[in-house]
Amino acid sequence: MGTAAERRDELKAVWQQARDCTKCPQLASTRQSVVFGSGNADADLMFVGEAPGANEDRQGLPFVGQAGRLLDTLLEEIGLTREDVFIANVLKCRPPGNRDPLPQEIDACQDYLFRQLELIEPRVVCTLGNFSTKLLRGDPMTGITRLHGREEIRRIGPRRVRLFPIYHPAAALYTPKMLDTLRADFARLPELLALEPPEQPPPEEPELVVPEPEVVAEAEAEREPEPAQLGLF
Ligand code: URA
Repeated sequence: MGTAAERRDELKAVWQQARDCTKCPQLASTRQSVVFGSGNADADLMFVGEAPGANEDRQGLPFVGQAGRLLDTLLEEIGLTREDVFIANVLKCRPPGNRDPLPQEIDACQDYLFRQLELIEPRVVCTLGNFSTKLLRGDPMTGITRLHGREEIRRIGPRRVRLFPIYHPAAALYTPKMLDTLRADFARLPELLALEPPEQPPPEEPELVVPEPEVVAEAEAEREPEPAQLGLF
C-alpha cells in the first residue's frame, strides 16, 4: 500500500481529521480529548478496545487506567511493550459516565478504525471484549464468551488479518477466573505472530474509464487551439 513512512503520514492525516470530529454531538461536547490510539504505526500486532474512559480522556491516550496497567503486565509477560504494538479503540471519544457505545456512535466512528487497520497493516488484530469483536467480525450476535481464544483469518477492508478475540482486561480485573483465561489466551500471541502473514487478496483493479465517443468529440471541439508553435515560426 505504500512505505511505512507514507502510511504513517497518512495515519497522521486521519488523526488530524479525527481530532476535529463532531459526528457524535454528545461525545464531541463532553470529551476532553479524542483518543485516536498510540504505539507503533507499523506494528504487526494491534489491539482494539472499546472506548476511552475518564483517564484516557484526560490524557489523550488509550488504556492508561487500571485496565491499561493490566494490559502492560500481560504484554510484558510475552516479552512485548507498548512500543511494539498499536492500541486503539472502537470509539475515539469517551461515552459520558462510561456508558456503552451506542450503535450510531459505532457507525459514525468506525471509518477511523478501518483506516487505522488499513494503514498500520497489522498481521494479528486482537479484539478486547465484545464491542470490537462484534464490529470487526461483522457479527453482532456472537459474543466474546464463545469466541475468545479462537483465531480466524478475516478480511477487514482491503486486507486479511488474523483476528484473535480475547476478554477485555477491565472485565478480568475483578474476576480471577477470567483473568486466568485472559492470560492463557494472551500467551498464544507470540505463536500467532510467528505464523506466516495471511495471504492478501489481489489489489483491486483501478476502474478503467473509457470516455464516450461523443464526449471525446465535444472535448476535442472545446479544446483551445494550440498556440502556433509558440509563435516561433
Ligand atoms: N477501556 C477501553 O476499552 N479502552 C481504553 O482505552 C481504556 C479502557
